[in-house]
Amino acid sequence: MGGKKRKRGVVEGFRVLTLLYYVSELPAGAFQRLVELFRVHRAVAALYFWSKRLKLDEGVGLALERARQLPSYYRHAFDERSQVYQFGEVERMGRPRKIVLKLPLADALHYHCGCYIEDNTLVVRLGGRERLELPLPERALKWLQEKEREVAPLKVTKIVRVQWREDRPEHLKVQIVLRVERKKPEMPDPKGALLVYVDANSDYGIVAVYAVSDGSETRVLETPKLRPPNRGRRLKAAAKRQAAAAYGHKRGINLALARLSTRLRARGWVKAAAARIFKKAFQRASGRSLIMNFDIPDPESIKGSYLQKTLLSLEKVAKNLVNWFGVYATFECYPSTVCPYCGSKLKIAYTRRTRVAYCTKCGFYDDRDYVPFYHWVKELGLPMPKWPLRKLQLPEELRRKLLINSVRPGSPG
Ligand SMILES: [Zn+2]
Repeated sequence: MGGKKRKRGVVEGFRVLTLLYYVSELPAGAFQRLVELFRVHRAVAALYFWSKRLKLDEGVGLALERARQLPSYYRHAFDERSQVYQFGEVERMGRPRKIVLKLPLADALHYHCGCYIEDNTLVVRLGGRERLELPLPERALKWLQEKEREVAPLKVTKIVRVQWREDRPEHLKVQIVLRVERKKPEMPDPKGALLVYVDANSDYGIVAVYAVSDGSETRVLETPKLRPPNRGRRLKAAAKRQAAAAYGHKRGINLALARLSTRLRARGWVKAAAARIFKKAFQRASGRSLIMNFDIPDPESIKGSYLQKTLLSLEKVAKNLVNWFGVYATFECYPSTVCPYCGSKLKIAYTRRTRVAYCTKCGFYDDRDYVPFYHWVKELGLPMPKWPLRKLQLPEELRRKLLINSVRPGSPG
């Protein structure tokens, strides 16, 4: 709500009377003048708001100068002592600290562009023939070429983002953003395609299943499990840093490093894991079309889990790679607690390494992390794979229990 600058410990109560008028019933001349006032006020107010928010005295001054186009009584909206001061809430808003310049990047010799690459240098033009030259490491140049090749013959557009934060004045962050535009891919025929199921719903981390089907048989090629970096070690390192910070040793640095080792490394791991999953998919596909499904838990179901942020960030990373490469992918969750053969509720037995899901009704069993894959295969209209997808050490008790069952759908072969 507007009102003048709020005093500490004071609450405001409001009652509102609302009246409605038909514009067509208002005198046309006066209404036109009102519209004109809106137009001027809105531009002045926007300049004033953002200048206040960014603490740009220059902009505030400019806005007040412009406000003189308004009748004097309307200018009270910009007077901090006034009852009708309109910007009280701006002071309470956090001030954005990041300053970003976005510039189109072209290859060398396009001098009309804000940025260009010349030899091993990123040149940022500053106007009036001045330029900022930033050396580009060999590795960066290679990365850029590699990424462009990945999507060829599509053309990549490049943008340079120059960022600076007032609270970290020592760094100038420069990003080169590559963008590719393509048509949304159609779903290929699942028969003959490489099928990749990626499940982030595991205690383990990320589990992937690579398979192919010719329509009469579904063959599983590989079932890699990707485990996040050792959590215990990371947390211990972070605790050490935090303790050092508490004692005042290089406080800022140690606190920052503590945060880094708990958060950023997990995010970096997700990126690396996603890259590995895609790389393997392209290797395995070798000419086949590709269908992927990412099974990423909804935020509610993993509340409080340490893997939460890590796993959720996979969705963003995966969507970006899917669009970059133009892969057909879905993001559906399939059940891991329902038997894919008979629909009964699965029971869980624990071994040292795995959670084994088993069905007391039909005798099906497999690593719980692979169960959603079966449901996906079924939905694609393909024959079920042989189970278990890979060798499983069954607990003795469970082995006896399952042996009693003689019915074995899609038998383990
Ligand atoms: Zn069953």
